[in-house]
Amino acid sequence: MGEFDIIKAYFAPQSSSAILSVGDDCGLFQLSPGCVCNVTTDTLVSTVHFFADVDPFDLGWKSLAVNVSDLAAMGANPRYFTLALTLPGDVSNQYIASFSKGLLQLAKQHHIELIGGDTTHGPLSITITAIGETPKGKEIRRSGAKDGDHIWVTGDLGSAAFAVDQIKKGQIAPSYSYERLVRPQPRVAIGIQLRGIAGAMLDISDGLLADLSHILQMSNVGATINAELIPLGADLKKMNNEQALTYALTGGDDYELCFCANSQHDDFIKNIAHNCGVPITQIGTITSKMGIELKHFSKDMQLPQTLGYQHF
Ligand code: ADP
Ligand code: MG
Repeated sequence: MGEFDIIKAYFAPQSSSAILSVGDDCGLFQLSPGCVCNVTTDTLVSTVHFFADVDPFDLGWKSLAVNVSDLAAMGANPRYFTLALTLPGDVSNQYIASFSKGLLQLAKQHHIELIGGDTTHGPLSITITAIGETPKGKEIRRSGAKDGDHIWVTGDLGSAAFAVDQIKKGQIAPSYSYERLVRPQPRVAIGIQLRGIAGAMLDISDGLLADLSHILQMSNVGATINAELIPLGADLKKMNNEQALTYALTGGDDYELCFCANSQHDDFIKNIAHNCGVPITQIGTITSKMGIELKHFSKDMQLPQTLGYQHF
């Protein structure tokens, strides 16, 4: 199959709400009235971001999910995306078909449409640029955390990092953890409902402590984290607590939201959790003293040596 046959067969949408979609030099779309554009890009490289033998359906899903998660972290509504796909020469049509299925299933779930891209030969890598929208001035940045805010996380943490460790050791990752690794669920509905509520927010991709540090630096504040409150993934609850906490505090690939909000919003936030069927847990408090103070049942706890995944 040539490049254009691949695009036609697997990446050309049947219909689109865009003004112009796959097939021309550029895609064209109109934002909703009063909205600004939110743009984000993430690349997944074989053996760096995923195991080379991962199921192509899961790979398609995750490639888009990590980008949609960035939109969720701004409180944005997903709208459109482009796909730059680099494929090895020996890749089968079946592989591409399955990749496309996973990608488009996640896209359908979040009402985000493919409007263009690029297809090239080379070592397997996927770059997606996702576009969303927020009402002007309503985007949730990293810089608005205030002394006294409560710190919250969605879902549970640490499972993906545990799964990666198991696989690297040549073992089979338990199903809950594996599922969390390969099929992250971007928290779009929660992000949107947090507009006007969360002062600062991001998605956890490199590890809770590493990512939280970005909020703290950009907001000029510190945090106290209560380790015993951290929501642990199902398989982590069964292991040594210290080990489990290390995964949850510093493990990457969770794609949950971490946000800060004034305590007056506590009930509203618990209501969002109830309505979305996703736990949202308070794990600490923003303080005026810079840095992170880690507590375990009010006893001081040492910060882990590395706070999260570092690319360089
Ligand atoms: P150009 O030469 O102008 O860059 P291409 O030949 O690369 O155009 O692509 C032709 C059309 O197919 C364009 O509309 C482009 O956006 C789209 N396209 C290419 N690859 C992909 C892909 N992987 N997914 C979606 N659309 C794609
Ligand atoms: Mg091109």
